[in-house]
Amino acid sequence: MLRCNDYVFAISPEEAYELNQKRNNVIIGGNGWLKMGKRQWNTAIDISGLGLDNIEENSEKFDIGAMVSLRDIELHKGLNSYTKGAVKESLRHIVGTQFRNTVTVGGSIYGRFGFSDVLSMFIVMDSYVKLHKGGIVPLHEFAKMPYDNDLLLGITVKKTPLKIAYSSFRNQSTDFPVLTCAVAIGEDKITTAIGARPSKADIRTDSIDVLKDIENYARKTARSFNYESNMRASGEYREHIAEVLIKRTIEKTEVHYGN
Ligand SMILES: Cc1cc2nc3c(=O)[nH]c(=O)nc-3n(C[C@H](O)[C@H](O)[C@H](O)COP(=O)(O)OP(=O)(O)OC[C@H]3O[C@@H](n4cnc5c(N)ncnc54)[C@H](O)[C@@H]3O)c2cc1C
Repeated sequence: MLRCNDYVFAISPEEAYELNQKRNNVIIGGNGWLKMGKRQWNTAIDISGLGLDNIEENSEKFDIGAMVSLRDIELHKGLNSYTKGAVKESLRHIVGTQFRNTVTVGGSIYGRFGFSDVLSMFIVMDSYVKLHKGGIVPLHEFAKMPYDNDLLLGITVKKTPLKIAYSSFRNQSTDFPVLTCAVAIGEDKITTAIGARPSKADIRTDSIDVLKDIENYARKTARSFNYESNMRASGEYREHIAEVLIKRTIEKTEVHYGN
């Protein structure tokens, strides 16, 4: 349950940002993750009135507000057409429809959770986060940045021509993933993300020449990440699954599989 002494409905990004500079204050996204904690916060900062709940699309990019729900992204025609259904595939396993209706992309990306399907999917695309103070930062850089008190306003995905696919492996449907894999193949390079290792998603980028020998690429790329054990799987098992998922996900980039 979210416990707080005070609640503020922010009327501007500046107000939300300023309030968030105090260590005991917290921004609320969809409150899906926060409510699992036991911490007593001083002020809960509600950013739902800042107009950050739209997806805007033009010929060059998608601008996704931080308060857009995962369900809205999952159902967005433009994003699914651009990714040939990969975005939907990455989100549809997360808990259930009602949950995805409430949790936000801002909370998901800000959280940089190890198990995050959301981060694993967006990190292989030409994606950027928009921070109130920090400005525009490539997502793969943001993923490595330490947590600070900035306000995430949204995410931009440029429509760089890519063939994209997503796979995850779960012991049981709707559980946290044992491993996630996203692949994006551009004109001259391939980017592969592996997440839930169980640490957060990271990427490897290579020339598309590696696709001449997919088995070799899958093996070498899988081995280039580090893996650890937890209650869901051993590190050794994860490495094995990574090799299989990389190979299969490359094959899926040729298929429209998400609708
Ligand atoms: C039981 C459970 C199972 C889950 N399973 C999966 C899964 O299988 N795959 C997966 O990818 N995800 C999973 N998730 C994570 C989920 O998809 C969301 O990523 C998570 O709930 C955070 O989103 P939220 O909107 O609820 O954020 P909140 O809980 O509201 O916030 C999370 C954090 O982000 C901060 N924050 C929120 N918005 C902003 C902002 N705009 N700017 C700055 N900071 C901000 C908050 O202060 C907080 O620290 C699971 C979560 C739960 C609770």
